[in-house]
Amino acid sequence: MTATALTHHIARLIEETGPIPLSHYMALALGHPDHGYYMTRDPLGAKGDFITAPEISQMFGELIGLWLAEQWLQQGTPKPFALAELGPGRGTLMSDLLRAIRSVPGMTDAAEVHFVETSPSLRDEQKARVPHATWHERIDTLPQLPLFLVANEFFDALPVTQYQRTERGWCERYVGLEGKRFIPVLAPVPLASDALLPAPMKNAAEGEIAEISPASTAIAEEIASRIASRRGAALFIDYGHPRSAPGDTLQAMKNHAYADPFDAPGTADITTHVDFEMLSRAVETGGAEAHGPVEQGAFLTALGIEGRKEALTRNATLSQRADIAKAAQRLTAPGEMGSLFKVLGITPRGSMLPAGFA
Ligand code: SAH
Repeated sequence: MTATALTHHIARLIEETGPIPLSHYMALALGHPDHGYYMTRDPLGAKGDFITAPEISQMFGELIGLWLAEQWLQQGTPKPFALAELGPGRGTLMSDLLRAIRSVPGMTDAAEVHFVETSPSLRDEQKARVPHATWHERIDTLPQLPLFLVANEFFDALPVTQYQRTERGWCERYVGLEGKRFIPVLAPVPLASDALLPAPMKNAAEGEIAEISPASTAIAEEIASRIASRRGAALFIDYGHPRSAPGDTLQAMKNHAYADPFDAPGTADITTHVDFEMLSRAVETGGAEAHGPVEQGAFLTALGIEGRKEALTRNATLSQRADIAKAAQRLTAPGEMGSLFKVLGITPRGSMLPAGFA
């Protein structure tokens, strides 16, 4: 095991208190105030560990902006309103989005930009691109205004809890120590009830794993209830599956390659696939309407990425044209981000079917 400051901290914790829940391990690896992965670096881009859609092309943020603008217009142009983003990374998506909505009369003036971001180094990046934003540690402090919100690759970074089906019942997976290595271990006592597992997971075979993210569910429900009571709309975009199903999707990325999530916590991005059925259910519980999920490729195509591509290409050099075409391809092609990534739309109940979700 590679020894990092966080390795020592977590190892000591386990020695003192026993194995820790996987969700706790994940929260420390990503969010420990001094040594957590997101707290210490800018993980995005070619030099980082992974790249995201807004970093691939400005077309992504522009199309999201136009989707939110259409919702804002349909809901009677509420002003003021909160234009919010969860986990804004470098602030690229929001700055592209803000440029796109400048063509919508009155929208920029009505928008108060709010970011929910825990990482100090990424907050600096965001401030450089969107200086007039207001920052929050958690969604609870977002203002009580109509809420137009986007979250791209945010839910995949939230902690998950895993249970394994054993002959004794469902046992929670913890992280323990074997010598100097972190390893998954099972809680000795099974769950008293499987009520908290989604129905499709309950019939899993022995040995299979059920993964849930109570943190994600709570956030989706809170956003939905704000949209239900004060109007607004949201897009959750992430990689994941449309239906709840058993399976261990925990993974780590370092330098654009897969890594071991239990080695050197704090130095790799640890994520899981987002369960969109669970998010949709949380949205319905919160009182709003969930649309989709649809695949990112189909969504961007329906919103007119071809037209955006042509508009950008008009004044471009030959090599810029090739870059723009390649970026559109990466965002939409099924073998690239087009089908693994999904989009969930959230509107107040009884709204017209939003663009991209037909
Ligand atoms: N949306 C951006 C960045 C994705 S990376 C993009 O598409 O490029 C995940 C982002 O979520 C980072 O900004 C990270 O710092 C932030 N983040 C991770 N966990 C968080 C949490 N619990 N609360 C708030 N922000 C979080």
